Amino acid sequence: MRARSAGRREAAAGGTDAEGGLFHELATAVAALSEPRNLRSFALPYPGFAQRALDRTVMRCIDLGEDPPKSLPELWEWCRGRTADDPLFDVPPSLVTPDTTLVHAIGLMPTRACLEVASQGSADGVAAEARTLLAELEARCVSAGQYQRCRRFLAHHPVIQQEDRYTPGWDKSVWTLAKGLYRPMDESLLTDGLAMRCRSCGLPGLLDRRRDPAPVPGRPVTDGEAWCEGEECPRGDAFDLIRDPRLSLILPLSLRVFLVLPHRVEEEALNALDHAGADYEAVPGHLCAYRLRATGAGTLDVRMYDRVQPGLLAAHLARDAPLADHTFVVVPQRLAGRASYRTRFTAGLPAPLRERLVLTTPDSLVPHIWARTR
Ligand SMILES: [Zn+2]
Repeated sequence: MRARSAGRREAAAGGTDAEGGLFHELATAVAALSEPRNLRSFALPYPGFAQRALDRTVMRCIDLGEDPPKSLPELWEWCRGRTADDPLFDVPPSLVTPDTTLVHAIGLMPTRACLEVASQGSADGVAAEARTLLAELEARCVSAGQYQRCRRFLAHHPVIQQEDRYTPGWDKSVWTLAKGLYRPMDESLLTDGLAMRCRSCGLPGLLDRRRDPAPVPGRPVTDGEAWCEGEECPRGDAFDLIRDPRLSLILPLSLRVFLVLPHRVEEEALNALDHAGADYEAVPGHLCAYRLRATGAGTLDVRMYDRVQPGLLAAHLARDAPLADHTFVVVPQRLAGRASYRTRFTAGLPAPLRERLVLTTPDSLVPHIWARTR
């Protein structure tokens, strides 16, 4: 309890724009505006939340003697160029990396960092929506095993093409439970009536709209020309063309980013636990969290994340409750291997939590557990 209180105090002291500041409000607005139901919101009158974000930005610009964006389309473009370290914002560099933008330069869609900022705070925004959708799915399932099959299906099928339903092994009982979570492909993900899916992460992608090429089957996509929602994929893997996206279905953005992406590291970590003979159970109410059974070393949790902002991940864990005696935070190797990721994560934790939270990777998870239990 003391650690959680300290965490809240430090988050409040260091996270002046993590919740309630202009950057956070803009991130929440950008995330909401990218939803299909809001695609018409760029025409007047704007929805209240968007108008408030625009008004607040205008006032802040005027206060600092800068030319403000004059419309929602201008605000969108403005968010594409303004970084987190801009004096207009009050974002601690320890919380969000200074070069972060809320709208992706090529995709013209919310960045993953934007969605992580929008998931920060008491309401937990976009990530909370993913948790709610999964909780509703679990309530429709008759057993834990059925829910796990549905959850795995969603994680492996962010996009459903019509022909997928006729492939061998298609599980009709899972589809019956899961199909309510899918919806028509977002108009914003179409170029000339066509859509693309990243071969690496399975999420939607777009070619650089400023160059205006339509997606062409077999056309090579080179670095700098394309965007995929996962943002981190090797561009050499390129895309598969979705030839008839108007007959295809897609998961909501919250599940694409906060279930599909971390599911890869979750599967790798659980495979490592299974191989080591570890016994574990899912922790209810979390997206990817498990508690190890019978360790003889107090409560040990394993949580899996794929978050690009380690400072925000640390702040999320610091304000989350209750934590186990020790929690292993598993992230993909490509993130943990970055020079500043581990440093920023540790620096973002309140001192009392640094001994209880271990940042690790799927390959290092079991050795880290052994070190704590033997
Ligand atoms: Zn990708």
